[in-house]
Amino acid sequence: MTKQEFTVLARQEMSRFALSGWSFAFDNAKVIFGRCYFYNKKITMSLPLFEANKTNNFIQVWDTLLHEMAHALAFIHDNHHQHGKEWKEWCVKVGAKPQRCYTDAEVTAVTHKYHLVNSKTGEVAGKYHRKPRWVKDCGLSFWHQREDGTHEHYQLVPNKAK
Ligand SMILES: [Zn+2]
Repeated sequence: MTKQEFTVLARQEMSRFALSGWSFAFDNAKVIFGRCYFYNKKITMSLPLFEANKTNNFIQVWDTLLHEMAHALAFIHDNHHQHGKEWKEWCVKVGAKPQRCYTDAEVTAVTHKYHLVNSKTGEVAGKYHRKPRWVKDCGLSFWHQREDGTHEHYQLVPNKAK
């Protein structure tokens, strides 16, 4: 599913609950999956977390949308801003889990794809979401000359740790 396809679904779902005056957009948040902007009438969702979860964890993606819709509805109808009783009632109506936050076990977190590792010490000297530009010029590793004239070998390795 593309982000455009999801946006169409999200807007349909929002109009079902009379949130047609509200907009939906993706943002680039890496930790917060969904946000509800009461005064700008806007729901946003993390594009990186959407991409990381859409294939194996779509239920969680969809629940994030419903969670934010319940916030919007509780604000409009009950002037409620938090995760209290009114919000939970709207969760039931829209079909969201009435649970405040997702847990790490439920969401595939966005992790850095590559680590730059000192091949001698194993120290991680850098973290990257995509291959940095210098990789194209230097290949997957480079040598760094130290002040004392010795060299350190750094290697870009795929990050396997969660
Ligand atoms: Zn919430």
